[in-house]
Amino acid sequence: MTQDSDSKQAGERSVSMDKLVALCARRGFVFPSSEIYGGINGFWDYGPLGVELKNNLKALWWQRVVRERDDVVGVDSSIIAHPRTWEASGHVDHFSDPMVDCRACKKRFRADQLDDAGRCSSREGSSEHDFTEPRNFNLMLQTQIGASEDATTAAHLRPETCQSLFTDFKRVREASRQKIPFGIAQIGKAFRNEITPRNFTFRSREFEQAEMEFFCHPSEREKWFEYWRAERLQFHRDIGLRESHVRNRTHDEDELAHYARAAVDVDYRFPFDWQEIEGVHDRGDWDLSRHGEFSGKDLGVTDEVTKEHYNPVVIETSMGVDRTCLALLADAYHEESLEGGETRTVLHFHPAVAPVKAAVLPLSKKLAEGARRLEGDLRRHFNCFYDESGNIGRRYRRQDEAGTPFCLTWDFDSQEDGRVTVRERDSMEQERVPVEGIVAYLRERLEVGL
Ligand code: ATP
Repeated sequence: MTQDSDSKQAGERSVSMDKLVALCARRGFVFPSSEIYGGINGFWDYGPLGVELKNNLKALWWQRVVRERDDVVGVDSSIIAHPRTWEASGHVDHFSDPMVDCRACKKRFRADQLDDAGRCSSREGSSEHDFTEPRNFNLMLQTQIGASEDATTAAHLRPETCQSLFTDFKRVREASRQKIPFGIAQIGKAFRNEITPRNFTFRSREFEQAEMEFFCHPSEREKWFEYWRAERLQFHRDIGLRESHVRNRTHDEDELAHYARAAVDVDYRFPFDWQEIEGVHDRGDWDLSRHGEFSGKDLGVTDEVTKEHYNPVVIETSMGVDRTCLALLADAYHEESLEGGETRTVLHFHPAVAPVKAAVLPLSKKLAEGARRLEGDLRRHFNCFYDESGNIGRRYRRQDEAGTPFCLTWDFDSQEDGRVTVRERDSMEQERVPVEGIVAYLRERLEVGL
């Protein structure tokens, strides 16, 4: 299968956010959390297709960043950390957005995004903005630990997954016998009390990050920053985002966090704008020095040859899992005109991220036995789907909408000749393939380019 089918190659886009949101709900990719109660702003649930897409993305990331290398190790740390963590990291004092309230409509906006507020007041028919003075609003979500509700039991849900990679640095380095340079990676949930969640899952209050902190000697920081910048950009292209929709954007000096030396975003061209899906940052030795200072523990390392004792510099790669899923969906979505005036909606996922790899479709319900046997064999290797209802054309369309790369039709000849018709999603071409070699046949086509 060629991932760059003609329609993708042309680079045109046929998706609006409204259409994408509707498809995601209808097909069970992503929909509002607690939908039966009217949803809850900034929280989303992934359905049967969505969770497969997300798991595939996370597995590909883990494979690439952790398993294929001997200089990155993984962890899975708790969501709630010792409160001193967030003092040391600067989140207690600085992790806030300026917020204003509109006195007319009572809505709340980020003071640095007043274009939204402008839209709000024009809806109200007012040409005058009547906002409160900006106030700083800390984005960390609070919770209580234990039974009493005094200040000593207050805790925060982590607003990013990386802090434990710093606080665990010494333990992980010693336990895994890693030497500088090396990285620690994890995938997990993060929470931010965003003032204005918007653009579907793009800005949520609960989301997942896939982060890696690479610890190196200060003299090698430029080399590793450049390495990870290029590597992370390439990853997004390899999982199927088309080249013209992915770019690096270097932060200007005045955008950098005070401790950061350099930062580059991986931006994706969403239907609403170019926006960040991943950040690559040179964070200097800020994190290890701060946690060293606040904990009273020495987090530095000693060079075995020179005996130099120093805090390593950290190059961070921080991917938003939900944002990247949204990019995969937006990039894959396509409406195509067929002969006879029909339109098909198809998700041109790279086969590696496609939620379902193959659908087994008996031409008639009478052929269920053989088709079920084939499905059972395939399920041991790939995520499969079985569908015997409706005419075959309609069943193909349903799989196109789910982004399933292959449909395997078991027909009246299959019993006799041991072959099935394999229909490929993008080209819609069909070929007869012996059932005996079907696993190898599919595997070769599913693992293309990775
Ligand atoms: P933004 O400026 O868009 O708020 P950020 O610069 O604060 O993002 P980081 O703190 O660098 O983001 O987080 C790293 C990654 O985590 C981002 O590239 C993004 O993919 C993801 N992310 C951050 N905030 C959210 C959110 N509210 N919802 C979904 N994903 C998020």
